Amino acid sequence: MKRTVLGIEGTAWNLSAAIVNENDVIAEVTHTYVPPIGGIHPREAAQHHAKFASYVIEKVLEEAEKKGVSLSLIAGVAFSQGPGLGACLRTVATAARALSLSLGVPLIGVNHCLAHIEVGRWKTPARDPVTLYVSGANSQVLAYNMGKYRVFGETLDIGLGNALDKFARSAGLTHPGGPKIEELARKSKNYIPMPYVVKGMDLSFSGLATAATDALTKASLEDVCYSFQETAFSMVVEVTERALAHTGKKEVLLAGGVGANMRLREMLKIMCEERGASFYVPEKRFMGDNGAMIAYLGLLMLNSGNILSIENSHVNPNFRPDSVKVTWINEDELKGDT
Ligand code: AMP
Ligand code: MG
Repeated sequence: MKRTVLGIEGTAWNLSAAIVNENDVIAEVTHTYVPPIGGIHPREAAQHHAKFASYVIEKVLEEAEKKGVSLSLIAGVAFSQGPGLGACLRTVATAARALSLSLGVPLIGVNHCLAHIEVGRWKTPARDPVTLYVSGANSQVLAYNMGKYRVFGETLDIGLGNALDKFARSAGLTHPGGPKIEELARKSKNYIPMPYVVKGMDLSFSGLATAATDALTKASLEDVCYSFQETAFSMVVEVTERALAHTGKKEVLLAGGVGANMRLREMLKIMCEERGASFYVPEKRFMGDNGAMIAYLGLLMLNSGNILSIENSHVNPNFRPDSVKVTWINEDELKGDT
């Protein structure tokens, strides 16, 4: 029987528990916080997670049991240690600590951004990619180099998803705004100039969200959605392309909830084709926040002895992916395959 790990994700809106082994997701149970109005309210999201933590954990254990994976086979408990909303992180960490103590198995603190990358490497043929990770709160371009995932470029203010959601709210659309903007953008081909902000390798989206809101007084919602997308996506594609050129890598992996967007995928695909790079997008269930990615990176970390004591298991809302020593990658294997 292969080693299995239970992982819990709950950095923001999605509470999700999963049990995986090195081959597959055995079970995953998710309960999503949906704000009644406006965007994500951190305290309410945390209360949601506290209310449903025992439900998702019990249910995922029950489903795994049906597939022949009993409680006694769980070798570790992983949780999202950050980055994320402090109140949400603390709630999930408390559940994970309690579970690890009661099962008598190691606790594993997972960096949420790295989990997005590793689930992509697991579920696509990508081996050593430049990753564009675009989610609600995060927007980063990362690649592995000498023992760490390095951040080659990132947002200096808000994440691309938050910028889309913020603009969508101002236009009277409900949360999450990203998919609604995509739908509306399809109906236009009329580009209105918007602030294109790339500083060196870094990005800024908050001025773009404000400019898009202002543009609504002069242009149609469809035209503004289209222009917002074209501008923001060109920015992230530019930085991804330069990271490819700089690192000499030959693969691009797309990660995070904004990666569901078909126009973004199309633009990245064109850039990759022009550069002779391969472009990989995981199945949608592994793109947005999910428990499976936490369980899977938890498993890789457990297998490489990367576990936490309860005393050192405090959460970190600003947990940087480039602060993590990567214990689970064998560099020779990485070189051999690409
Ligand atoms: P995550 O934080 O990775 O779970 O991603 C959530 C973010 O993805 C939210 O900001 C959503 O608005 C955004 N999102 C989801 N689907 C789409 C889409 N089709 N186009 C653009 N953004 C999207
Ligand atoms: Mg995420």
